Amino acid sequence: ADNVAAYQAALKKVRAELVGKHYPLIIDGVRVDTAEKLESINPCNTSEIVGSTAKATVDDAQKALDGAWKAFESWKKWTPDARARILLKASSLLKARRLEACALMSIEVGKNYAEADVEVAEAIDFLEYYARSAMKYSGFGAAETTWYAGEENGLMFMPIGVGVSISPWNFPCAIYLGMLAAPIVAGNCVIAKPAEDSGLIAGFVTDIMLEAGLPAGVLQFLPGVGEEVGEYLTTHAKTRFITFTGSRGVGLHINEVAAKVQPGQKWIKKVILELGGKDGMIVDETADIETAVTAAVQGAFGFNGQKCSAMSRLIVVDSVYDDVVGQFVERAGKLRVGTGEDNANVTAVVNEESFEKIGKYIGIGKGEAKLLLGGETPGEHGGKQGYYVQPTIFGDVPADARIAQEEIFGPVISVIRARDWDHALDIANSTEYGLTGGVCSRDRARLEQARHEFEAGNLYFNRKITGAIVGVQPFGGYNMSGTDSKAGGPDYLANFMQLKTVTERW
Ligand code: NAD
Repeated sequence: ADNVAAYQAALKKVRAELVGKHYPLIIDGVRVDTAEKLESINPCNTSEIVGSTAKATVDDAQKALDGAWKAFESWKKWTPDARARILLKASSLLKARRLEACALMSIEVGKNYAEADVEVAEAIDFLEYYARSAMKYSGFGAAETTWYAGEENGLMFMPIGVGVSISPWNFPCAIYLGMLAAPIVAGNCVIAKPAEDSGLIAGFVTDIMLEAGLPAGVLQFLPGVGEEVGEYLTTHAKTRFITFTGSRGVGLHINEVAAKVQPGQKWIKKVILELGGKDGMIVDETADIETAVTAAVQGAFGFNGQKCSAMSRLIVVDSVYDDVVGQFVERAGKLRVGTGEDNANVTAVVNEESFEKIGKYIGIGKGEAKLLLGGETPGEHGGKQGYYVQPTIFGDVPADARIAQEEIFGPVISVIRARDWDHALDIANSTEYGLTGGVCSRDRARLEQARHEFEAGNLYFNRKITGAIVGVQPFGGYNMSGTDSKAGGPDYLANFMQLKTVTERW
């Protein structure tokens, strides 16, 4: 309750100090404005413009690349601990402004306090964990030495250069920050291209990184349109690496265009992709039903299902189907719809495009399965226009239905009936994605089987299937869910380094 009161105070402060703010580009440490701008709209009250950022052009992107390569010349020579100290300073600055970051996310993307607070905690953890990880590679450029057959082998972990970090709006603080902090602490320079819908929180976090002491040009802030400036950066000969989190379609496109070698390009671009999910949770007849239903409600409707890790397919074994689904629908029906600022359970979805897409899938679902809950997109709540979608559950969904296979990214759940455990596991593995997955069961042999056979980068037993603690649960998907680079894992920084082995005969 104390935190919620402090959060309400932070909302007032953010409305007074940050709402209405405009964030220019930052190139080589200089704030640069552009002719056009990108506006952020409050999804829970679309009459409110939250603020704006500059809108980078390809000329700006060219300048950012040139400046970053210049900055790289000295940044790559900094010691890991000097670089890490900047991340730790940024972490303490973010801790001091934690509630403001939460409040800004509520207004800009509609996160409720609980979801926003966990996200800021994750951002802080990323900074501290990557700072510590950098020490493991102590002395980039300096050799770690082994001897073999009378020869000395020096292993040198070298930064790779200048890359672009392209991030989504759904974790606009943690993912944005984690994706730029890791390559930077590893000695690289980064051009950060945030999502169009979350430019303010990106600007807020970028300011913190610069205030922490990053030299000019190490982090270039380049908000802009993905298909324009994002495309330019990913195809450019001077881009050495691309770290991307977003949708499957855009990720696969980037993978394709980045593979083409441009005139004057000296390297094969390194591409790290974290993409979508269609994450399933199995409930079998041995499960504790109360645990399973709680896990399902939290995993499905947290941040309105707008998480790559959200539970969007609930796979229930026939003998307990009616009981589980009955309780699931009942509990989901009690979720409070409202604004992020009011800490409602389900808020508005992020923008008009998502709202339309989710509405279209609800329409498709009505033709494919049995509607058990919701199914409306009122577009209004408490007298405010916003992208409101009712929590929606479809039952007896065929496993190959479109709503059971395609990522909807909203509060729309497919419940699938399985004949038995084996059938349930087959259904769980029947999508092209493989991000998170879950099993609610008390049968040890089945859990052991799932441990090996369930295709998911992050698998959860007897709990909700979202959430990953940095440094404890490295996060990243299998199959079409990404390149399994495992953010927040022990080897994540290695993605942004190249190992040189120098063998010397004395
Ligand atoms: P999106 O793919 O629409 O956009 C992501 C970013 O890509 C944005 O910054 C956008 O401007 C940029 N972009 C768009 N077209 C581009 C192009 N042609 N070239 C370069 N950049 C381009 O995704 P979104 O709607 O912002 O985010 C939601 C998606 O992200 C979902 O699919 C979700 O599952 C996924 N996601 C995955 C993870 C994970 O860790 N695997 C985490 C969060 C979100």
